[in-house]
Amino acid sequence: MGNRKKKNSGPDAFEAYYSNLFGARWGTLKKALLEPSQQIGWEEELLEPYYLDSASVAAARALPTGGINILDLCAAPGGKSLVLASTVGDAGTITANEYSRDRRARLVSVLERYVPEPLRSRYSVTGNDGSRWSRYEKSTRDRILLDVPCSSERHVLSSPAHLEKWSAARIRNLSFRQWALLSGAWLVLSPGGYLLYATCALSPEENDGVIQKLVKKYSDVELVGIAKDKHPALVHHVPEKTEYGTIILPDTSAGSGPLYFSLVRKMEA
Ligand code: SAM
Repeated sequence: MGNRKKKNSGPDAFEAYYSNLFGARWGTLKKALLEPSQQIGWEEELLEPYYLDSASVAAARALPTGGINILDLCAAPGGKSLVLASTVGDAGTITANEYSRDRRARLVSVLERYVPEPLRSRYSVTGNDGSRWSRYEKSTRDRILLDVPCSSERHVLSSPAHLEKWSAARIRNLSFRQWALLSGAWLVLSPGGYLLYATCALSPEENDGVIQKLVKKYSDVELVGIAKDKHPALVHHVPEKTEYGTIILPDTSAGSGPLYFSLVRKMEA
């Protein structure tokens, strides 16, 4: 029993899982993941630059501009909520939701520090369990950003404690949580609206696997292609197409990522 557990978890199991997934590429990808991520100071519509991985900027900007009723369902610490400031429609509002109390406090202070008035008054912060949002609201939001909790291999690799605890079962459990968030969020999206699903995970089970479930369950899901972002701060990205989305990986994108994102639109009846 003890031996069996050892095989399925810990650094060796991690290594076996990802070298199997990426083959010959894993060595260079792992090396890039162990380097600091490529941060940029994002300042469009903000009081001062906020430093975040440029792939996170690309993900948030993939949500079409002009939203009038935007929901950022998993928002703390708030990097992508800040990027939404440059995409929101003239009279649009942004609800930044975060379930964790501590992380929500950080989100509030980030919005206060970086977003100028009167734009700040168009943001509101809530603290709900995102997977249950549809119990209270249905078909109300024209844009949803769903940046889910994920296995975050870059973080795992740089932390011996996290590496020790790593297991394929954890990926599975996370994918169930991600599906609960995505399937709930889908009901909150209004017909004609867009949802951007994002993770910083490498594992396809948390990425395409979750979107595939959505496509299989609902007949009104339209997959929307994402054009390469021409913003000067993002030109070094080499986004790679997956079956249902796009992934930016640090070995080919000058240290940015990992960031997977998929854009879906709810068809009108
Ligand atoms: N979008 C954020 C940003 O760009 O700064 C990062 C979000 S992080 C990947 C995922 C967040 O989801 C975490 O802060 C976590 O506490 C929160 N979270 C986890 N489960 C949640 C749930 N059921 N409802 C709402 N938030 C949740």
